[in-house]
Amino acid sequence: MKSLALLHASQLVTLAGPKRPRVGKELSELGIIRDGGILIRDGKVDIVGPSDEIEKKSKDAQIIDLDGRVAMPGFVDAHTHLIFGGNRLDDFERRARGETYEQIANAGGGIWSTVEKTRAATEDDLFKTAKKRVDWFRKCGTTTIEAKSGYGLTLEDELKILRVIRRLNEETPLEVVPTFLGAHAVPRESSPKKYVDLLINEMLPRVAKEKLAEFCDVFCERGYFDIEQSRRVLTAAKMLRLKLRGHVDQISNSGGAKLMAELGATTADHLEKTDGEGFAALKKANVQPVLLPGSVYALSSSSYPRAREVIEAGLAVVLATDFNPGSSPTPSMPMVLSLACTQMKMSPTEAISAATINAAYSLNRGDKIGSLESGKLANVAVFDCEDYRELAYWFGIPQTHSVYVRGERI
Ligand SMILES: [Zn+2]
Repeated sequence: MKSLALLHASQLVTLAGPKRPRVGKELSELGIIRDGGILIRDGKVDIVGPSDEIEKKSKDAQIIDLDGRVAMPGFVDAHTHLIFGGNRLDDFERRARGETYEQIANAGGGIWSTVEKTRAATEDDLFKTAKKRVDWFRKCGTTTIEAKSGYGLTLEDELKILRVIRRLNEETPLEVVPTFLGAHAVPRESSPKKYVDLLINEMLPRVAKEKLAEFCDVFCERGYFDIEQSRRVLTAAKMLRLKLRGHVDQISNSGGAKLMAELGATTADHLEKTDGEGFAALKKANVQPVLLPGSVYALSSSSYPRAREVIEAGLAVVLATDFNPGSSPTPSMPMVLSLACTQMKMSPTEAISAATINAAYSLNRGDKIGSLESGKLANVAVFDCEDYRELAYWFGIPQTHSVYVRGERI
């Protein structure tokens, strides 16, 4: 058995607590141990406690002195679009010049340009670029990434993307959780009705048969998939035993949150325009809200999701990057913490709970990751600061010192 002891963290942020997603005041209880240490055996957390106590029990272990840095569970990023061809630099520049979404789309930009580049890329091309991006996440202290398909929009291209996700899992140290988002947009060569039929009759059964995804997601919005179409796709996915996530109420309050509650989804994501009734429905159905301030920021909008209302409604809030080439080109959870505190008035403690333990539960992994407690995987991020609040306070500066996955430094 291999043992490793990390000693002398100024703050060991354990997130120890009830074995369920945290709500209300629980979001502010981080289980911090000052001058903390952690003994790791066989890739798992054995014990945590004050460093002098851990040191006594670490006779056979390799010792690493964290020298007064902050250590906490690696971030769990529960919403990303990791796999795509090309980038959207031209869109970015046009937006900076003040052009509208319509002007940008007419100039050949927008989601469709990413679909074309993703379709043209080989599986190897996509793997190579995605592998580089996975390393960006590592550099930000993230150890688990949810990743969606959705820039292929044909059976073969969606399978290609999901196979890249599978390969990332096998060939990179981070865990990548696969989500099928075939219902990201209606492809130009199809019609909404024809494409929804294709999703239900061909794509979803194939994805399920090849076990390429754990979750199914839908972009539920006018002009993409309306409530009825979203319900059809998600119901078919549920029958195939996929769990559900959804992009809802981002641009308009279309009843998407209520749909996710009705279907017993695991998460409802975005929620910029959701009303009180929608939040109450999510609460009743135990659906976790995933808030994505990165896209609001990068689109120069000011309509951030109303985190205070979400927390006051008793919901087990999650924060994620929404990493994607069009609206949120950031892999940085510390940047998301900064936005959550400055723009959404979450406290640093609430933001950290939302980015670790609650995010882990939203990926059905709350029993394995998201906190540093006995028996959980030793996924640890060490930061070059003395106080965990510095992660949200200093922005635009990398503070990651080292990252461990299953007890191995990566
Ligand atoms: Zn998204």
